Amino acid sequence: MGYVKGLICKECKREYAKEPIHVCEYCFGPLEINYDYEGIKKVVTKKSIESGPPSMWRYQALLPIDEDPKVGLNTGFTPLVRAKNLGKALGINNLYIKNDSVNHPTFSFKDRVVAVAVSKAIEFGFDTISCASTGNLANSVAAHAAEAGLKSVIFIPDGLEAGKILGTLIYGTQLIAVKGSYDDVNRLCSEIAVNHKWAFVNINIRPYYGDGSKSYGYEIAEQLGWKTPDNVVVPVAGSSLITKIWKAFHEFEMLGLVDKVQSKIFAAQATGCSPVTTAIKNGSENITPVKPNTIAKSIAIGNPADGYYGIKTANTSGGYGEDVSDEEVVESMKLLAETEGIFTETAGGVTVGVTKKLIEQGRIKPDETTVICITGNGLKTQEALADSFDAPAVIDPNINKFEDYFANSVTV
Ligand SMILES: *Cc1c(COP(=O)(O)O)cnc(C)c1O
Ligand SMILES: [Zn+2]
Repeated sequence: MGYVKGLICKECKREYAKEPIHVCEYCFGPLEINYDYEGIKKVVTKKSIESGPPSMWRYQALLPIDEDPKVGLNTGFTPLVRAKNLGKALGINNLYIKNDSVNHPTFSFKDRVVAVAVSKAIEFGFDTISCASTGNLANSVAAHAAEAGLKSVIFIPDGLEAGKILGTLIYGTQLIAVKGSYDDVNRLCSEIAVNHKWAFVNINIRPYYGDGSKSYGYEIAEQLGWKTPDNVVVPVAGSSLITKIWKAFHEFEMLGLVDKVQSKIFAAQATGCSPVTTAIKNGSENITPVKPNTIAKSIAIGNPADGYYGIKTANTSGGYGEDVSDEEVVESMKLLAETEGIFTETAGGVTVGVTKKLIEQGRIKPDETTVICITGNGLKTQEALADSFDAPAVIDPNINKFEDYFANSVTV
């Protein structure tokens, strides 16, 4: 039914069967999906996509499952918001927000990758879903495992935000906090994967999982009227999303759905965890791992799995990498909320803050079409704003008390 021939090594191009594996046995390169693009070309047109469901599954022929999706049928096709007010504040004229802070069902772009990963895990016959997560993946894996009626065992670094923890536990999962950073959690999970035959969405199912992110890129192009933008500013953790947006644009070009892709892809990180943007700035092709220290916990990966490819995407597209301080993250979360009425989490503060910097540096020009990726919801990272606002005024239910208060209050 689907258009997946098998897996293929991104480096040496050796081919593998469709299995829950992710590393080439010969060169240790990452495995990717090997699509039957000739078959896809025969069925995928603008019309076929436009007549599909208002979800990421309108691109099902380009996603790596063989049967119809088993979970997440309502995921994706989030708004592409024309951000005139924020554009004005930043001094540019053609700004858009791709708003996955309202993605179904757990309010981050991770619902796209997990909808694919869990559907594929069911095809493979797994009964337990697992992952190492910086927070949003945990929420999404727990929710989709619940929807599928499967068990889940989820690993996070200790010290995550309360919203991310409760937003995982609510689905009736087994949640384990590991003392250390995400990179420690991920290393532990690789060892656990040897002993337990579980579907680890970002380890043995990673080739399938990663391609769920392509739908974010397809939607940007379709929602711009079958055009790719001049600039995309992408938050970077493991570097999966940034490479898949690029891949999505190029697949659309190959299928004749958009003109030649000339988009510049910009990597955005928090200064307290910026292995990818630091490498780009230094002109280096390789990552020097760091120990994360930032409030942008959802993108705090010090040793990113696809970091090398993230750097390559920014460089070959003609983009760049920038990072912002935690103070700039908070300022940018407020700016987006005050100008567009969109409450994003810390990772969205990173992309808005980095966009501001790139405009100031002249790397993003005023009349170019620019898309800022907003990938998560602000209600999950309230700690970041703990010192930002006074408590609301408390008054008696009395008109005179209100008028007294209002006359003496300072309006914002
Ligand atoms: C995971 C995550 C990212 C980045 O994901 P990668 O594909 O690992 O680079 C960006 N934003 C948010 C909110 C995330 O949770
Ligand atoms: Zn190989």
